[in-house]
Amino acid sequence: MTHDFLHPLTGSFAMPAAENPTVVMIEAAYRQLGLNWRYLNCEVHPDRLGDAVRGARAMGWRGFNCSIPHKVAVIDHLDELGESARIIGAVNTVVCRGDTLIGENTDGKGFVTALNQVIDPAGKSVLIFGAGGAARAVAVELALAGVSRIRIVNRGRERGEALAGILQRQTQADAAYVPWPEKFRIPADTDIVINATSVGLYPNVDQTLDIDPDSLRADMVVADGIHNPPLTHLLRSAKARGCRVVDGQGMLVNQGVIGIRYWTGLDADPQVMRQALLDLEL
Ligand code: NDP
Repeated sequence: MTHDFLHPLTGSFAMPAAENPTVVMIEAAYRQLGLNWRYLNCEVHPDRLGDAVRGARAMGWRGFNCSIPHKVAVIDHLDELGESARIIGAVNTVVCRGDTLIGENTDGKGFVTALNQVIDPAGKSVLIFGAGGAARAVAVELALAGVSRIRIVNRGRERGEALAGILQRQTQADAAYVPWPEKFRIPADTDIVINATSVGLYPNVDQTLDIDPDSLRADMVVADGIHNPPLTHLLRSAKARGCRVVDGQGMLVNQGVIGIRYWTGLDADPQVMRQALLDLEL
């Protein structure tokens, strides 16, 4: 019997890295696909990011994820960028094609895939809380998916206006920054409400968005980027008012599915990946 002990390598560069469960989700998918690929969760100091990328090239890695704090800095070490990664200005997935390293951003694509299971965003009016990296990825991908209007609501005006400006200049969507007063009331003509802030992320599970929950209407779809816990305070309020909801684990799982497709050309089973995360009881 012949053996192949040379495992095709993929992985993640981040700091900190210990709490990132992606390795469990991706390796569950590799097993289910019958691949002998590996995914290595690597802690890489910002000063060593260039060395890490050169190491991946030297060892013939098939691709890797970048997480905090490398999503912007890694661009200097790559050869090409996909369209949304260029507009977002950040990369979370690198695809190695021979010696060419291509930067993609799958955060927003994963979010749109999860959202599509509940509503087609084309032509819809969207309100996004947040203007950081996740909000940028989600907003750009929604604009490329054909939403008609995007309102960016952010605590800090500067970041909010900057994101609205990027969307207005570089996509077809009609985008504007909206200041965030106390007990913000969600405009009644909103179709999709998205939390892309870090509010509600473990361990701050009781932290809530400063909104008037009665402004959530049953015909709105409410989505949260927070994956831990999956059922956030916002999603519980929305469910209680009859809204359809999309949780952040859907975004996490689907960005993983898209990354695996870039690297291997194969479609992983999102249910297997979601179950691997659920088994961790995060
Ligand atoms: P950033 O640090 O880039 O941005 C944080 C955002 O949250 C900013 O808009 C910030 O506003 C806002 N914010 C923070 N605290 C508060 C608060 N108390 N009230 C109102 N707004 C607040 O982080 P990221 O964008 O990278 O990540 C945001 C979240 O998205 C994280 O929790 C992360 O876990 C999640 N995420 C989920 C993914 C998934 O696959 N499910 C993928 C990527 C991210 P301001 O500008 O005013 O500071």
